[in-house]
Amino acid sequence: MKLNRTNLEQHLDHLYDAIVVGGGAGGLSAGIYLQRFRLSSLIIDKGKARSFWMQALHNYLGLSPDTSGRQLLQQGKQHYSALAGNFLEGYVEAVTEEENTFTVRIKVGRQNSRYVMFQSKYLIVASGIIDHLLPLDDMQNVYDYAGYNLHVCMVCDGYEMTDKLCGFFAGSEASIEEMVFNLSWFTPRITIFTHGLFEVSGQMRSQLQEYGYRLVETPIQKFLGENHQMTGVELIDGSVIELETGLISMGSRYHNTYLKGIDLEMKGGNLITDKMGRTSHPRIFAIGNLKVGLNQVVVAAGDGALAATQIWREIRKDTGPRKWQENLKILA
Ligand SMILES: Cc1cc2nc3c(=O)[nH]c(=O)nc-3n(C[C@H](O)[C@H](O)[C@H](O)COP(=O)(O)OP(=O)(O)OC[C@H]3O[C@@H](n4cnc5c(N)ncnc54)[C@H](O)[C@@H]3O)c2cc1C
Repeated sequence: MKLNRTNLEQHLDHLYDAIVVGGGAGGLSAGIYLQRFRLSSLIIDKGKARSFWMQALHNYLGLSPDTSGRQLLQQGKQHYSALAGNFLEGYVEAVTEEENTFTVRIKVGRQNSRYVMFQSKYLIVASGIIDHLLPLDDMQNVYDYAGYNLHVCMVCDGYEMTDKLCGFFAGSEASIEEMVFNLSWFTPRITIFTHGLFEVSGQMRSQLQEYGYRLVETPIQKFLGENHQMTGVELIDGSVIELETGLISMGSRYHNTYLKGIDLEMKGGNLITDKMGRTSHPRIFAIGNLKVGLNQVVVAAGDGALAATQIWREIRKDTGPRKWQENLKILA
């Protein structure tokens, strides 16, 4: 059921088996499994998942390669809702824990906001990350192409970049080092743009020269193109560089601030988990892009299945087997 301001009240005193923070690919998958295990679950989602910006999911078994992230999310929400899962659009601000129960504080509505608390035995954190994009004065110019032929994920879209004239938009020298030589697997026709954000060392310059990769340090004025197809960039000095595709590699923001009151083992912004998704807290599971691993839809969906299954195993063990009462009466 979709919860909203008018029907919230009747669910506030319910102790959920699991609350899932984030209704993207991982969170919806976890929710579907939880409901099918006949557990009670609530997904809280602020919207605009990373998957929402995915124009086409090219690498998911069984789905047409032009399936968009929006379609995936819509289908996932319908599936979850058909299993009677509760879904609330809201922003999780904080999580606290007392006597084996989590209390999740949520802001509902951007205007005239209402603050509500929900409680659960387990917590699944599926709130993901979001990519930093190139900081231009006119960000709409970046949004016009990002997710189309201006990519943010090489594992997802390297194939689409094969042998194309590619702009690599770096956030630091470390991102050049980490990504550019891997990108050359797909295309060696690489121009690296620093946008004047950082200095490139002499050693890196000569390495780039050795491979024939171009380095542009003049800041970018805007992307050029039409119908969401980027065809190049114009620099602030008015010069134009033609491109056929691009990859932005400027790091990410981790959606984990609501966890700051809980001591969890992390690596950078990512949560460290075991193979079932359990964090260093026995009743908190982390799935999808927020945990250490490969940032892919198929992995996030698989993580959701693992975490939900482990939670079911534990709750089932605590509850014990059900008795066949009618048969016991006959046998008595
Ligand atoms: C442009 C683009 C193209 C991509 N292409 C592919 C591809 O082809 N193949 C592929 O496998 N992967 C692709 N990816 C990666 C894929 O989108 C991610 O791996 C996947 O979405 C991760 O799922 P997730 O559930 O971890 O996070 P998300 O899908 O990002 O979901 C997290 C959800 O949590 C919500 N949230 C965050 N904080 C809070 C909070 N405090 N309270 C409530 N809700 C919160 C977010 O708003 C979001 O809705 C692409 C990504 C991008 C950006």
